[in-house]
Amino acid sequence: MGYCLWCHQAFQPKIGFRSFFSIDIHTGFCSICYKQLQPIDERECCRICGRHLKLIDAKYIKDDVCRDCRLWENSEWRGLLCKNRSLYVYNDFLKEVVKAFKFQGDVALVHGFKTDVCRFYKKHFRNAVVVPVPLSFERLAERGFNQSEHIAALIEKPVCHGLIRAIHENKQSKKGRKERMAHRENPFKANQKFKERLEGQSVLLIDDIYTTGATIRMAAEALRIFKPKEVNALTLARGA
Ligand SMILES: [Zn+2]
Ligand SMILES: [Zn+2]
Repeated sequence: MGYCLWCHQAFQPKIGFRSFFSIDIHTGFCSICYKQLQPIDERECCRICGRHLKLIDAKYIKDDVCRDCRLWENSEWRGLLCKNRSLYVYNDFLKEVVKAFKFQGDVALVHGFKTDVCRFYKKHFRNAVVVPVPLSFERLAERGFNQSEHIAALIEKPVCHGLIRAIHENKQSKKGRKERMAHRENPFKANQKFKERLEGQSVLLIDDIYTTGATIRMAAEALRIFKPKEVNALTLARGA
């Protein structure tokens, strides 16, 4: 018997043939809450950003790549991100869970995602060096923890703090970010301490939400100094 991390009801974790082989068990959320998550079908997502293709108009899709990704790949940011895979659509339920996790400090909620995070890691990114996307010093001081590190810790592999977030970005200033990108003012810097661990490796960036893909690409760009074999990303949610 366990207690659901979200609704706090007692529930019986499913024990069966599949869970015996540790496939498809999700501990942490009861089945009613878990069903409110909307997994992204890996066979129906954008090859690059992992967005659920069914949720966008067919005219914006070409060769299983969404329009946003084609724009990225036709820009100077081409090739920086090999692929992002998000576990779920950022629906209203997940927005509530992320809000409680990230902004209200209910850190234990992250364990509800463990099985899916580990499954995606093993399936798509096995042996990649895990690098959580850092917060700025100011944001970390304000929040007290970095949500990406908690997600990364679910994988149970040593994480590599290969990135430093040097510039504090103001959340309200979206225009500011665009301007910074245009001027190549990257908030991230590679952490030289981890040069040996990252050089020539496959790197997996971990973040909570992929929205425009700008954060992940700036992080990937900062790591370019280590000439990684490829940079991928694993995120909980794919925003609209
Ligand atoms: Zn529940
Ligand atoms: Zn895409």
